Amino acid sequence: MSHRTLIVGNWKMHGSHPANAELLAAIVAGRPYLADVAVCVPFPYLSETAVALSATDIRWGAQDCSAHEQGAYTGEVSAAMLHEFGCRFVIVGHSERRAYHAESDQLVADKARMALKHNLTPIVCVGETLAEREADQTDAVVKRQMSAVIHTLGHCISQIVVAYEPVWAIGTGRTATPEQAQGVHALLRLQLHAATSKSNDMHILYGGSVKPDNAAALFSQPDIDGGLIGGASLKAADFVAICRAGR
Ligand code: PEP
Repeated sequence: MSHRTLIVGNWKMHGSHPANAELLAAIVAGRPYLADVAVCVPFPYLSETAVALSATDIRWGAQDCSAHEQGAYTGEVSAAMLHEFGCRFVIVGHSERRAYHAESDQLVADKARMALKHNLTPIVCVGETLAEREADQTDAVVKRQMSAVIHTLGHCISQIVVAYEPVWAIGTGRTATPEQAQGVHALLRLQLHAATSKSNDMHILYGGSVKPDNAAALFSQPDIDGGLIGGASLKAADFVAICRAGR
């Protein structure tokens, strides 16, 4: 990997005005980082996040967007709106959305396309469940999830960020070993390579119980270009330590 590591915090449905102010101030105070750093926050907090970070090199984003441009879609938020709030990133296809909101591979791909159309970088999450891993289906599942996105985006695929997040490792304290994660990242890189000559420039992040004590080992793998951090991104000291483990 020749480019800088990318570390992205996924706050999920956590936060409050005072907690956000404290956390964002600590992330800013922890600079400089060798890695590129971003936080993906709940929609209502985008405005205060933009105010807190706009004079810094820390970027921000959202955790989902609509696959539609605009219209009668009550409760949804469009990619154009996120762009108005200065978002650089939007997570799409997080396993919690695939599982609890029945998001299909194609819907995730359509969201990624809409994000790119509005100058946002989609962070497309893929990953297998524990049952799928135990049934030896890991490779087939992540390839299927990725191929819907490749098919939909065509040559624009090089503009996305991929996050490999084994579902069994998310929020469970159970991390994939660096070697396990590297194996899947290499597979994804190969698949992307068949679709774009720029696959080596793309970021493939690992997510799933990344903590200060396992971050450096994960980020040192050749095809792991950073991390998508859930629980540990809410604890200022942990998130800053993980960001410092990036290169
Ligand atoms: C995530 O939600 O993207 C995630 C990786 O969560 P955690 O770090 O808590 O496992």
